[in-house]
Amino acid sequence: MSASPQLKTASNDDHKLLRGRPLAERIRAEVATSVATLAEQGWQPRLVSICVGDAQAAVLYVRNQRRVAEKLGIAFEERVYPDSVTQAEMLAVIHALNADPRVSGVIIQRPVPAHLSIKQLQSAVHPLKDVEGMNPASIGNIVYNELTLGPCTSVASVELLKATGLDLKGLEVVVIGHSEIVGKPIAFLLMNEGATVTVCHHMTRHLAMHSRKADAVFVAVGKAGLVTGNMIKPGCALIDIGINQVTTPEGETRVVGDADFESCYDVAGWITPVPGGVGPVTVSILMRNTLTALQLQKRHYESAFASSA
Ligand code: NAD
Repeated sequence: MSASPQLKTASNDDHKLLRGRPLAERIRAEVATSVATLAEQGWQPRLVSICVGDAQAAVLYVRNQRRVAEKLGIAFEERVYPDSVTQAEMLAVIHALNADPRVSGVIIQRPVPAHLSIKQLQSAVHPLKDVEGMNPASIGNIVYNELTLGPCTSVASVELLKATGLDLKGLEVVVIGHSEIVGKPIAFLLMNEGATVTVCHHMTRHLAMHSRKADAVFVAVGKAGLVTGNMIKPGCALIDIGINQVTTPEGETRVVGDADFESCYDVAGWITPVPGGVGPVTVSILMRNTLTALQLQKRHYESAFASSA
């Protein structure tokens, strides 16, 4: 049995704010170094972003991804397809990108129009180019604790928990939200680290009963103010993945997470801000995955070349 974790006392609020930037920058620096080494050997990473239809919701994300990619030496190509594009046409686009040796990774920006199946598109991205870690093969690998190309947001969230220094072995963790792209992968990643994981969702009775006993709480629901200070254990780590646009009484639009920041800040030992918590780390993991994808493809081409020589 693991020893009890060293949670913070509520009064010890120095370094309470678990900002994503320092971790994100550390990962970016490592990626930039490896990208430069590969470039010297003639290998250039290239990330292709696909937007379909009215991509307004994704504009800021795509701009940020481009900015970070280019800073790290990763070429970033934006493709935008009209709302009228069919599933068959999109599958053909993805198959062509899979076959293109200049493309290291493909990211399909959400949301896509309702007539397209995002799941089928994601499944069509070759596992060696699946930098989002969303292909069923990549998701399946997590169950086997093989994390070559993990789903970006989930990996980022777990890395933030690790940044607290808490020992994950035996840690009581509650994950609120069980979507395929966030909650479920987080639960598997945490189990792989030895944590004791409880997964809560919209059908969970007495959410607070679970969250109050947790040393760490992950929340990925999409409901502002869902988790309040009286629902968490003093000193726990709170990783807020939610992104919600709210209008303040003054009529201002703000982005907030799923936690009621004020009340949770008073109780938690660590809390991620929104924005500025999970988001920056997620972009860094996307870049790291692009680098990993290129390394995998390099190995693949070199071994194919060696066996045909
Ligand atoms: P989703 O809609 O697919 O899933 C929502 C989950 O919340 C479901 O599992 C549902 O059962 C659960 N849920 C709903 N109401 C609940 C309640 N009252 N109590 C407990 N659980 C409840 O959402 P998603 O795609 O997983 O995204 C969740 C949030 O994370 C959204 O705000 C999204 O914008 C954000 N997100 C952030 C990032 C990032 O990089 N920070 C990435 C992806 C998603």
